[in-house]
Parts: sequence; C-alpha cells; structure tokens
Amino acid sequence: MKTYKLLSPSVFFLIIFCFILPFVSVSCGGSKITTVSGYGLAFGTKVDSGFGASERSSPDFNTLLIWSCAAAGFVFCFVSIKSQKLLKLALSIVGTILLIILMLRMTGDISKEGITFTVNFEFGIYAVFLLFIAAIIINYIDFKNTEGIIETYPLDIIEIPCPNCKTTNNSIDLFCKQCGSKLNIGDK
Ligand SMILES: [Zn+2]
Repeated sequence: MKTYKLLSPSVFFLIIFCFILPFVSVSCGGSKITTVSGYGLAFGTKVDSGFGASERSSPDFNTLLIWSCAAAGFVFCFVSIKSQKLLKLALSIVGTILLIILMLRMTGDISKEGITFTVNFEFGIYAVFLLFIAAIIINYIDFKNTEGIIETYPLDIIEIPCPNCKTTNNSIDLFCKQCGSKLNIGDK
C-alpha cells in the first residue's frame, strides 16, 4: 500500500522529466534538420531552420499546458486538500487530451517559402503519452479505492439480532455477546 502511494507522484515526475527528451524532429527532403525537446517546444528554443541559419522558436502554449498539468499533478500529490484524488485524475485526463491535440496539430507537412518540411514525432513525445495513460489508470484506481472505502465502511458494521435471544450484536462479532450463539453473518 505504501509503495502504491509512490506511484502517482512518480508517474507525474517521469512526465516532467521526459520533457528533456526529443519530442519532434523536422526533416526536409528526407534529411533531419532539427530536433526539439519538450522543454524546447514549451518554452521556445533556438531552432536550426536549415541552410546554416537558426532562429528562436516561440513558446508553444499547448505544450506548456501539458507540462503544467503534470507539474500540478505532482504538486497535488503532496498537498492535502479536499478532492485531491479527483483533481489528480482530472489533470491526467486533461494532459492526455492536450497531448493528443498537440500531436494532431503537428501531424502533416509545413510549407515555408516554397520548401516542404516534415514533422516527425520522437520517442520523448510517445513516452509522455504512455506515462499520461499510466497516470489516468493509477489515479483512477486511487480515486475509486477511496470512494469504495467511504461507501462500504458503514455497511460493514451493521446491527444484527441474535437468532437465539434476539440481542442486538454488531455484524463484526462472530458470536452473540449475550448468549454466545453463533451469529448468521452472511444473512444480515
Ligand atoms: Zn444471543
């Protein structure tokens, strides 16, 4: 149970970490011109625009939001607030949706000054995608478990009458506190 508690912050931390990996590469006529990491996309980076020239790319708000979802999810693992688990689950889902939007936006060729550039996804973006799916699963199970405890706890301790002397006993007792008869637990 203790090790399971570490899964949720770990997966968010790994997503943040994976932003240093290459996310996309741009190629022209089959040869790779430049590779951009997640941080490069999110905060802007010096991009080789081909033919020896380089320019600074502007920060991509979409990528920045994905990073923020993971960062906020990581922070909420250590901040005890109401509906903390629901919030972490929501952040995992929103992060995944934003990442799908980013990938759809970047699919396809870009034409610039008559030259066609092809954008390819690199392993960093796939790693982040898989980690977000893992985050949804982990945080969903975590959220579902807490809900289950709240729902079933009052049902576990109910009062049941003794079949012999009709004394009221708790359902967690095996024998009647009055006469010692075996209580019919399964029968309610
Ligand atoms: Zn009894």
